[in-house]
Amino acid sequence: MSRIIIFVILVSCTTIPKDSKPHDLDIVVESHLKAYDTAREFLKERIKVGKAVTRDEWESLLAKQAIPANQKLLAQIDQRHKLAIAQAKETARQSSLFSLAKVRQDDLVEKFCAEIPKGGALHLHPSGMIHKEPLRKLMVRVNPKVSRKIIEDLIKSGAGNLYPGELDFLNDLPPTPYIDLSPEQQERMVGLFFLPQGAHPFSRFEAVFNFTSLIHKADFDAKRVYYSYFTALAKEQGIFYQELSKGMKANPDGLAYYDELALWLEKEHGVRTNFLMSYGRWASAKRHFQKTAELIKQDIPPRVVGVNMVGYEAHEPLLEKGQGLYGQLLLHPDRPIHTSAHVGEHGDPRNLRDAMIMKIERLGHGVLLADQVLELEIARRLGVVIETSVLSNLKLGVIEDVAEHPFLKFLRLGLRVSLSTDDEGIFRTNINQECQAAILYTDIEYSELKEVFENSLHTAFLEEQEKSELIEKLKERFKDFEKSWLMKLKSL
Ligand SMILES: [Zn+2]
Repeated sequence: MSRIIIFVILVSCTTIPKDSKPHDLDIVVESHLKAYDTAREFLKERIKVGKAVTRDEWESLLAKQAIPANQKLLAQIDQRHKLAIAQAKETARQSSLFSLAKVRQDDLVEKFCAEIPKGGALHLHPSGMIHKEPLRKLMVRVNPKVSRKIIEDLIKSGAGNLYPGELDFLNDLPPTPYIDLSPEQQERMVGLFFLPQGAHPFSRFEAVFNFTSLIHKADFDAKRVYYSYFTALAKEQGIFYQELSKGMKANPDGLAYYDELALWLEKEHGVRTNFLMSYGRWASAKRHFQKTAELIKQDIPPRVVGVNMVGYEAHEPLLEKGQGLYGQLLLHPDRPIHTSAHVGEHGDPRNLRDAMIMKIERLGHGVLLADQVLELEIARRLGVVIETSVLSNLKLGVIEDVAEHPFLKFLRLGLRVSLSTDDEGIFRTNINQECQAAILYTDIEYSELKEVFENSLHTAFLEEQEKSELIEKLKERFKDFEKSWLMKLKSL
C-alpha cells in the first residue's frame, strides 16, 4: 500500500504536463520549495563536518527535486503577475490620501520629498558615506602620504581601477604628505573619493574604498567627525533609525568599538543606530567561515545586530563565498544574528535563489529578480524583503534609467521593499533624491511611497518593543505631514 502511495506522489511531482493548467503552478512552486529545504539541510550537514558544498553538487541536488517550469507556465505566471500589479496599483490609488499627480504637475516633488518622514535607512555603508566637508578635515588631521605609487599599491591590495586622467594627476605627485600639496592638488585628491557624474563600472566605484583606507588610521575622535556628519544629514532628511554595514573584527574590542560608536551617534543626534558586520566578497570563503565561527563565540553587544555580505557579485557567487557565513548561522538559530546580503545587483542571478535557500532575511538590491519569473513567484510566497537603492543602481549601471527599476513591481507583488542610499557620499546622493527619483520616473502612488518608508522600520533588525515605538513615532510624523500636505494641495 505505502509503495503505491509513494509511486503516486512521485508521478505527480515529477511529471510535467504538456499543457500548463492553473494547478501546475502550485505543483512546480512546491517542488522548488521542497528542493530549497533539501538543499538547506544538505548545506547544514556539510557545514557541520567542515566540508564545502560544490556548485555541481548544489545544482544537481536542486535539479533532482525542482520541476523546471516550461515556457507556457512561465508565461502564465508572468500574466498573473501583471494582473496582480495592476490590481495593486488600483488599490494603492484608492487608498492614497492624495494623488501624487498634483505634486508632479506643480513641481513640488523636491519639497514633498524633503518633508516626507522616512523612518529608517537599512542599506548604508559608512565607508561610502563620507562627504567632502568632513573629508577635508580628516585628510588634514591624518595627513597621509599620497602619490600614484601609494594609490596603486592600495588598489592592488584591494580592488578597482582609476581612469587614465586620474592616474596622470597622481603620476605628477611626489610621495608627499597631504598638507604639503597645493590647495588645487588637495581638492583634486579629495575629489577622487567621489564618483564623477554619470554611470560607472563597479571597478571605478571599488577604487574609492581603497582611498578610504588612507584615512583609516584616523583615531576614534576623528572618525566621529564623518559619522557625525552623515548622521546629522540623515536626521535633517527625516531618518531616525539607521543600519550601517561596516567591516569589523569579530572580537570583543572590534565589536565594542562599533557598539560605542552607535550609542554615541544616538546620544549626539537622536538617530537610533545599529551596525551590521560586513563580509567582503573579495576575502576567501575560508576566511568568512573562520570569522563567522569567531563571531558565534562572542558575547555580541546590543548595537551590532547582524551580518551583510558586500562587494562585487560578478565573480563571487553567494554559494561559493557565503556558505561558510550564512550556512553556519543556520546551525545557530539560538544566536541573535540577523542576516542581509548583496544579491541580484550584478552577476549570477542564482544568488537570489541561494539567498532564499539560506534564509537570508533581507536582500540588498535584488534587481535581477525581476527577470526570473519563477523565483519571483517564490519570493512572493516567502515574503522576501528587498533593500532598494535606485540611484546607486543607476550610478553603477545596474539599470539604465529609473523608469525600468523593478522596485515598484516588487512592492506591487507583495515583496517588502524599503529605500536607502547605499553609498551616498561616493554617489553624491541622498534619501530625498531617492524619493524624488521614485516619484518623477515611476507611477508610484502616495500610499505606496508611504509603505516603502514604513517598511524601513517593519523590516529593521530591531527588538520588537523598540520597533513598535519607532513605528509609532513614524505614524505620528506622518499625521503631521499629511495634515500639512492635504491643506497645501487643496489650496492649489
Ligand atoms: Zn550596498
